[in-house]
Amino acid sequence: MRLPCPYCGERDSREFTYRGDAGLVRPDTEEAMADYVYLRDNPLGWHKEYWLHTVCRTWLVVERHTQTHAPGAVTAARSRRAGS
Ligand SMILES: [Zn+2]
Repeated sequence: MRLPCPYCGERDSREFTYRGDAGLVRPDTEEAMADYVYLRDNPLGWHKEYWLHTVCRTWLVVERHTQTHAPGAVTAARSRRAGS
């Protein structure tokens, strides 16, 4: 799999580290925290994920199709607004 970094261009996936689901929102209640930490969906289709490009140390939000692994839109996580 190859992923496009907005700063370095298209690179091999071995340069990236998966860092989690970008669609999760940290809950306000303690009761919901266990589900937030331990429960994960296994979606089929397009999914937003956090990836770290270990070469340039940039956190990215990558849309990736979970069946084909095809990357979609890739943006730097710091440009992301809360709730998007
Ligand atoms: Zn990069």
